[in-house]
Amino acid sequence: MKFGGTSMAGTERIRRVANIVRAQAAGGNEVAVVVSAMAGETDRLVNFCREANALYDPAEYDVVVSSGEQVTSGLLALTLQSLGCKARSWLGWQIPVRTVESHAKARIDTIDAPRMIESMEAGEIAVVPGFQGLSEEGRVATLGRGGSDTSAVAVAAAVGADRCDIYTDVDGVYTTDPRIVAKARKLKAVTYEEMLELASVGAKVLQTRSVGLAMKEGVRLQVLSSFVGDDAISADELPGTMIVSDEEMDELVEKGLMERRHVTGIAHDKNEAKIILTRVPDKPGAVAHIFEPLADASINVDMIIQNVGRDKGETDVTFTVPQADLARAQAMLEDKRDIIGFNRIITDSKIAKISVVGVGMKSHAGVASTMFRSLSDRGINIQAISTSEIKVSVMIDEDETELAVRVLHTAYGLDAED
Ligand code: ADP
Ligand code: ASP
Ligand code: MG
Repeated sequence: MKFGGTSMAGTERIRRVANIVRAQAAGGNEVAVVVSAMAGETDRLVNFCREANALYDPAEYDVVVSSGEQVTSGLLALTLQSLGCKARSWLGWQIPVRTVESHAKARIDTIDAPRMIESMEAGEIAVVPGFQGLSEEGRVATLGRGGSDTSAVAVAAAVGADRCDIYTDVDGVYTTDPRIVAKARKLKAVTYEEMLELASVGAKVLQTRSVGLAMKEGVRLQVLSSFVGDDAISADELPGTMIVSDEEMDELVEKGLMERRHVTGIAHDKNEAKIILTRVPDKPGAVAHIFEPLADASINVDMIIQNVGRDKGETDVTFTVPQADLARAQAMLEDKRDIIGFNRIITDSKIAKISVVGVGMKSHAGVASTMFRSLSDRGINIQAISTSEIKVSVMIDEDETELAVRVLHTAYGLDAED
C-alpha cells in the first residue's frame, strides 16, 4: 500500500490512513506501507536548499529532502501502534534500498529485504518512507520528484506482493487530469504501455519509472483513493484503476467492460522550457555540438525542431528542456558559443506540452490531424510537434493549457455524459 502526500498531510489524515492499513492487515494480509512526505513538505525543503546555496550539492540536497518521508513513516508507525497494530518503520538505508546514478534523481538498483520480510511474516506491518535510497557511496539518495510511487512498486516486487495499491487524492486514473476537466472519465483499466506514456508526458498520478518497473517486474498495480468512508468497498474488489497487460485489456474489451478508443488519455506538462538557438551553421556536426554537452550534464532534451536552412547556410534550432535545468543549459550553451557557432539564445518558460495518448493510434490514421484542426479552430497556435507510435504532442503557449486540454477531450469523444 502506498499513500501520497495529501493522504499523509497531518496527524488526522495519518489516522485515516492507519485505519485503512489496519483493515487490510485484519483481512489476513501481510502488509508493507510506503509513504510520502506531507503535501507541500518536499517543496518547502527544496526551497530551503535553494536559499542556502543556489548551486546546491545534490548529495546534501538529498539529505535535506529525504527527511519529509522519515517524519511520516515514523508517525504512521506510531499511529498504527496506537490502534493496537504491530508496526515499525524501515528507512531507505536500513532495508536497504540500493540506488545508482546521480543524486536527486537516483534509480533503484536492488532491494534485498530479508529482515523486513521476516518481520512482516511475524505479523509486523512494515512502514517504508518512499523516495529514499542508499547510494553506492553509502550516502542518502532520493529518487526524483514523485519517486515514492517507484519505491512502492520496488518494495512490492521485493516482497513478492500480490498487488501494489497506490492510494492518492483521486479515485483512479482518468482520461485527463480531473482537476482541469470536470468531464474527465475514470478508467477501469489502462495498459502499462499507455500509462507509461501518459506519465512520461505529464500525468503526474504515477511517476513514470514506477510504471516502467511494474511492467518489467509484473507487479499488479491499482490506483485508488484514500479519501473514502468506513463503508467503502475493499481495495480487494478493485474500486480504482488497474494497470494491466495488453492481454488483460483484450479480455476486458471482449467482456464489454472496456471500450476501444483511438485516444485513451490526454496529459499536459508545464514544466518544460523552450530554447531557440539562432543562426546555427547548417552543416554536419552542428547539432551534435549543441546536444552533446547537454547530455553530458544529464539534461534531458525533449522536443527538437531544426528549421529549414536559410540561404546563408544557417538554421535555427529549437528544443525543450526541463524548466529546472534551463539556467544550467543556457550557461552551458553560452560556454560553447564558439564551438556551436550560434548567434543568439532565446528562451521561453511560458510554454506547455499537450499530449494525446492511445494504443489505438497505431492502427488508425487521423488522430494528429484531429488535434491540429481542433486547436486551430480555437485559435491556439502550435509551436512544435513531436510524435511516437502511441502519442502526439504539441507545444503551445502556457496560458492556453486548460483550454487546449478541454477542447481535445471533447474532440476525441472522451467527455463523460452527465
Ligand atoms: P500523491 O501525492 O498521492 O502522489 P499526486 O499529486 O502525485 O498524488 O498525483 C495525483 C494527482 O494527479 C491528482 O490529484 C490529479 O490532479 C493529477 N492527475 C493528472 N493527470 C491525471 C489523470 N489522468 N488521472 C488522475 N489524476 C491525474
Ligand atoms: N515527497 C516526494 C515528492 O514530493 C516524493 C513523493 O511524494 O512521491 O516529490
Ligand atoms: Mg505523486
